[in-house]
Amino acid sequence: NLPYADGDFLHFEDLLSAQERVRLKEVREFLDAEVRPIARDAWNAAEFPHHLIPKLAELDIVSPVRRLGYSPLLAGFIHAEFTRADTSIATFMGVHDGLFTGSIELLASEEQKQAWLPDIYAMKKIGAFGLTEPLGGSDVAGGTRTTAERQGDSWVLNGEKRWIGNATFSDWVVIYARDVADDKVKAFLVDTSRPGYSATKIENKISLRTVQNADITLANVVVPDEFHLAHGNSFRDTNKVLRSTRIGVAWQAVGQQMAAFDVARKHVVERHQFGQPLAANQMVQDQLATMLGNAMASMGLLVRVAQLEANDQATEEHAALAKTFASARMRETVAMGRSLLGGNGIVVDFEMAKIFADAEAIYTYEGTQEINKLITGRSVTGISAFV
Ligand code: FAD
Repeated sequence: NLPYADGDFLHFEDLLSAQERVRLKEVREFLDAEVRPIARDAWNAAEFPHHLIPKLAELDIVSPVRRLGYSPLLAGFIHAEFTRADTSIATFMGVHDGLFTGSIELLASEEQKQAWLPDIYAMKKIGAFGLTEPLGGSDVAGGTRTTAERQGDSWVLNGEKRWIGNATFSDWVVIYARDVADDKVKAFLVDTSRPGYSATKIENKISLRTVQNADITLANVVVPDEFHLAHGNSFRDTNKVLRSTRIGVAWQAVGQQMAAFDVARKHVVERHQFGQPLAANQMVQDQLATMLGNAMASMGLLVRVAQLEANDQATEEHAALAKTFASARMRETVAMGRSLLGGNGIVVDFEMAKIFADAEAIYTYEGTQEINKLITGRSVTGISAFV
């Protein structure tokens, strides 16, 4: 019955409407019933729990802001809660919903949207987002070497993509490729059953093991022109997608810290050493307070960014600062959590090891810590320090 033990120390949830709080509660109940019980085994086995897809479809959660009309704040809380339950399932949704669905919503024509979005929203078609390449990671704008060549009514795609989440089993993948005619990066919806398309799972990951990341090869893949996303014609267009998904990843860094806090708080109260709970030590409480402060500072920042989003004022720079700050705090928070569990902190059975390991992916994807700092630095100095 401790009023401050549930992680929402500063009552940020009071900023949601009563109706929104009901929805958040439903999502939490879903995660408790369907995700938490299977998360650890799926992670250990590095296998995706496909039986979850129809259940997630029933939860009806794809495109919370643009389709369902949720506030960015509620959408942010939902991101955080998914991550708090399991970062891999949160990332599966982040790829299908934010990156893939977001690409269609922001870059497709009205006609294309009408044709594709119903099945995407209903999760009858699962998507992936193919931007990163083996030689084009942080420098993805300059480093996109996959080519698209117009031939009659079709395009022919050639190249390689790396790290593409969901791509071992997705029905569709949005591929970003450089048009050989004008050198611009264009977006294409590629059906993964097309001849010349292949995806190989990246094995032996130490983070987000449940997420199926793939290396993709495109060898003369023919894509009819109606699958070229009508408004995806330059890297500037791609960036429109990344701005909102990067805010989602910053919310993940909040959820990751809440997960670490939950597990660590419970552990230090329950485990005894030297004849007393671990929590009776000042140095232990010092770490708990730091973890909570980190989580709340990150959440406060994200709450403000959500308000800016609601007013259509959130920029790429806001997204970059939110991601860089929250993920730096996250790294400290999960390291303290891992340490507070002692030896059990490196065993997945005790939850914290998975939280600790999964944080590393959040730290890196959607722009690394350094890249988001460079975006922020450029915005306050007017000087680009990328090279
Ligand atoms: P690199 O760019 O090689 O960076 C290596 C290091 O160098 C980093 O520390 C980086 O910050 C630093 N660095 C690079 N340039 C600079 C610079 N100018 N100044 C200072 N430091 C610099 N991509 C997709 O397209 N779709 C996905 O679904 C997807 N899912 C992913 C899932 C996971 C688990 C991971 C790990 C990655 C995923 N990615 C995906 C790719 C991800 O976005 C990239 O890994 C990320 O952008 C970093 O690129 P890189 O791995 O090539 O690292």
